[in-house]
Amino acid sequence: MILDMFSLKGKVAVVTGARTGLGQGMAVGLAEAGADMVIINHSPMPETEKMINDLGRKCLPIEAELSDISVIPEIIGKTLKEFGRIDILVNNAGIIRRAPSLEFSEKDWDEVMDLNLKSVFFLSQAAAKEMVKQGGGKIINIASMLSFQGGILVPSYAASKGGVASLTKTMANEWAKYNINVNAIAPGYMVTNNTEAIRKNEERYKSISERIPAGRWGLPEDLKGAVVFLASSASDYVTGHILCVDGGWLAR
Ligand code: NAD
Repeated sequence: MILDMFSLKGKVAVVTGARTGLGQGMAVGLAEAGADMVIINHSPMPETEKMINDLGRKCLPIEAELSDISVIPEIIGKTLKEFGRIDILVNNAGIIRRAPSLEFSEKDWDEVMDLNLKSVFFLSQAAAKEMVKQGGGKIINIASMLSFQGGILVPSYAASKGGVASLTKTMANEWAKYNINVNAIAPGYMVTNNTEAIRKNEERYKSISERIPAGRWGLPEDLKGAVVFLASSASDYVTGHILCVDGGWLAR
């Protein structure tokens, strides 16, 4: 039956950047749908761990600096040791750096690219190798409105998220034959640490708010439905897709 297809009971899901914001919201959503969780962050995640345990799901927190891809074998190793498999990977960890393009530094370029794009590819590659052995899996990348638009003052972020959209399609094309679905969620303007700076700028906050057809900024909970859909067998014939959860922003 259709609702059973959304169940993640018995599945193991890995979510990066799960300490706060969208990663925390999606990790809780996947756990609510029945998945046991591996949560990854460069700093401790006691709140997310408790939220998952309170739902009766198992949770393995792994502290890892994801901008350095040498941590990946340890992440895969610990996950397999604890749960024996990886069914779902959500590449959510991401950062943003703001400065005019004329003055933008190499450091702000590299730090954003290493986490937002390079680690997404190499963690996906490592997880996909396990998924091939298991007969399939689901990879969900977190893109952005800036996968489609240029933004202002965020050259490395826009380039990284444009890259995430392209990479999603490349991996989807190559891995569909292994039963691995690769999709992305492109959130609109959401209330998290990532958007704190623009929400503090009254003028920017007002102009963005007025342009959102839904009339409000998104919340981490707003991604739960999309992530559970893309992680579940309800989306088995969906791959290479970028699902916008943006209150209508791009339609305007
Ligand atoms: P956030 O800052 O609350 O979340 C980012 C998470 O990644 C945090 O838990 C942070 O501790 C973790 N993290 C940061 N650097 C890390 C590192 N080097 N290694 C491991 N973990 C690290 O912000 P958010 O808005 O929830 O961002 C989550 C994702 O959503 C990002 O990829 C972001 O680009 C994307 N996104 C956000 C919005 C928005 O409006 N907030 C819109 C589109 C896309």
